[in-house]
Amino acid sequence: MTQKMIGVCGGSGLCRLESLTDTREEWLSTPFGEPSDAVVIGRLAGRQVAFLPRHGRGHVRSPSEVNYRANICALKMLGVRWIISVSAVGSMREEIQPLDVVVPDQFIDRTRHRQDTFFTDGVVAHVGLADPFCAELRKILVAKCRELGLSTHDGGTYLCMEGPQFSTRAESELYRSWGVSVIGMTNLTEARLAREAEIAYATLAFSTDYDCWRKGEETVTAEMVVANLCKNAQNAKKLIEMIVPAVPLDAECSCHSALANSIVTDRADVPPAVLHRLKPIAGRYFEN
Ligand SMILES: [Zn+2]
Repeated sequence: MTQKMIGVCGGSGLCRLESLTDTREEWLSTPFGEPSDAVVIGRLAGRQVAFLPRHGRGHVRSPSEVNYRANICALKMLGVRWIISVSAVGSMREEIQPLDVVVPDQFIDRTRHRQDTFFTDGVVAHVGLADPFCAELRKILVAKCRELGLSTHDGGTYLCMEGPQFSTRAESELYRSWGVSVIGMTNLTEARLAREAEIAYATLAFSTDYDCWRKGEETVTAEMVVANLCKNAQNAKKLIEMIVPAVPLDAECSCHSALANSIVTDRADVPPAVLHRLKPIAGRYFEN
C-alpha cells in the first residue's frame, strides 16, 4: 500500500524546500501526461512530503501551459491526501497589504484555456465545489499563519484569471465590485482537480502587490512582484515547517470521498481506455 503523504505545490518564488531531509526526486509519467517537474520527496517532522513546483524549476511554464491534470495525478499516485498550495496573488482590497497572507475560502473562475477535469471522453462526474477548499486544512493554515505573527486574513474570494498578462484596469475594477479579495492564475484549476482526485486542498495566498486598481499606485510590474515574492517565500518555508506536523495525515474529511455518488456514467458505458486512464484517480469506484 502506498504511504500517505502531504503535498506542497509551490508557486512563483517558491521552487525548493530546504527543510526536507532524505530527499529523492521522482519523474512520474501519468495517464494525463508529464507533470511540471520532478516531484521532490523528503521527510519533515517524521512525515513524507511531496513537493512540486507548479511552474517547473526555473519558472518555465506559464499558468496556461501548466499541465494541472498531470500535476495532481502525479501527487495522487504518490499517495498524497492533503495539498498545501503556496501562491502569489495580487490584492484587490485596501486592507490586504503586500506581504499579507490570505487563506481564501472561495473562488471565481475567469480561466479560458485549460483542462480542468479528469472526467472526459465518455465518462462524466459532477463533484461538489460549493466549498472548494478543505475546511479542516484551512483551519490549520490560518492558525499557523497567526502563530508566526503574519498579518493573516481568514477567508476571502480568490479570482483565478487566465493570464499571463495582468488585468486591465476595467477588469480589476469589475472584480473589486464583485467583492473579490485576491487575484491569481493557478489555484482554482488545482482545487477543481484535487477535489475530483479526493485530495484535501487549501491555499496560502501571499499578497505581492495591489494589482492595478489602487489610485496613486504604480502600475504593477513583474519586477515589483519578484521583490515581494522573495520575502513571501521565506515566510512560506517557515509556515510549511509548522503546518506539516499539524496535518491530520490519517484522518478522513469529506474531501476524501468527494467522488462517491458523483460519477453519473455507468461503468459498462465507459470506454476501456478511459477506465484505464482514470485508474489512479477513481480506480476504487470502477472495481468489479
Ligand atoms: Zn477536507
